[in-house]
Amino acid sequence: MTQTTPNHKVTVSGWAAHDSAGVLTPYTFKRRVNGVDDVTIKILYCGICHTDIHQAKNDWGMTMYPVVPGHEITGLVTEVGSNVKGFKIGDRVGVGCLAASCLECEFCKESEENYCDKLQFSYNGIFWDGSITYGGYSDTYVADYRFVVHVPQSLPMDAAAPLLCAGITVYSPMIDNKLHESTGKRIGIVGLGGLGHIAIKFAKAFGHHVSVISTTPSKEKEARERLDADDFIISTNPEQMQSKMRTLDFILNTVSAPHSIGPILELLKVKGTMVFVGAPAKPLELPSFPLIFGKRVVKGSIIGGMKETQEMLNFCGKNNIVCEIETVTPEKINEAFTRLANNDVKYRFVINIAGQKSSL
Ligand code: NAP
Ligand code: ZN
Repeated sequence: MTQTTPNHKVTVSGWAAHDSAGVLTPYTFKRRVNGVDDVTIKILYCGICHTDIHQAKNDWGMTMYPVVPGHEITGLVTEVGSNVKGFKIGDRVGVGCLAASCLECEFCKESEENYCDKLQFSYNGIFWDGSITYGGYSDTYVADYRFVVHVPQSLPMDAAAPLLCAGITVYSPMIDNKLHESTGKRIGIVGLGGLGHIAIKFAKAFGHHVSVISTTPSKEKEARERLDADDFIISTNPEQMQSKMRTLDFILNTVSAPHSIGPILELLKVKGTMVFVGAPAKPLELPSFPLIFGKRVVKGSIIGGMKETQEMLNFCGKNNIVCEIETVTPEKINEAFTRLANNDVKYRFVINIAGQKSSL
């Protein structure tokens, strides 16, 4: 499907997948002319989230092709509409997963736009003008200013990019479960990938004891030494899992693929909580025994609202929290997709869209 909306006159170069093979190729398309509520952004960097693979391959059955992925965008403002508040040309900004929401419902009023039932995503969504949204694997983005955030000066634009999705996705459930209000809790992070590695950093910054629950023994040394994890549990090792039963207060599950959750739930103390942020393509089996015998709670969470996203970035700016990234040129997106699908990245690919020589 190509855009036919009349005011879509800005020519943009990007990279799109055209079918469920999920292979990205150069793609030229049109974006809307900067409107009164819009800012236009010269994209510098865009992170590669596992969601981009799910969407490019239509794992969730909702992809509108051609799809231009990318919702971990950082860049510089080049144009500002007359109604825009708080942004000026040259500002260092970020765009995450949200492009639009109703702005009127109970959730939007509380800046929980991520739970608005009219929410639209920054790619593979439908904007107010009826056009399909195209994401950050492209050189320019036009965004409604209410869905744009400032990137603190102290954060490099490349290593900050994944905070726009991976960062807020793991920060929000931690705040929601009040992990910022007390220290010394025992936290489990399941899956040491893009989301998982930044989750360790937040949990440590909040002063907790952090256990990684992983399928990959070779990640242990670095998890402990570079990411400061306190414990590393191999989820495929029944003895290890058994020995850690009933030890954790809170678990964040970031796993992208189907996996067995019963043994992971057993790691929780009585009344402990596991929050799912990972989104496997197939439903997971939820055994009731670990729930009823431990009065345990299972919840879900999707990204975060705009106010919270800005708060998260400010928190990162103050505490020097950035993502561990491997930067790639746009020509290497397909290679990066394959490596990410094969669990071979430490810990997030970021596309150097504008060909920056050094991070800003
Ligand atoms: P990622 O970098 O690929 O990390 C996922 C991790 O899951 C892997 O590093 C691996 O960790 C583990 N894993 C992979 N396959 C597994 C399997 N078969 N069994 C058990 N563990 C496995 O992906 P990501 O970008 O962090 O995204 C993770 C998931 O979150 C994706 O499904 C994505 O769509 C979703 N997501 C949700 C939201 C939201 O708002 N809720 C936002 C962003 C992303 P180990 O090697 O340590 O086991
Ligand atoms: Zn994402």
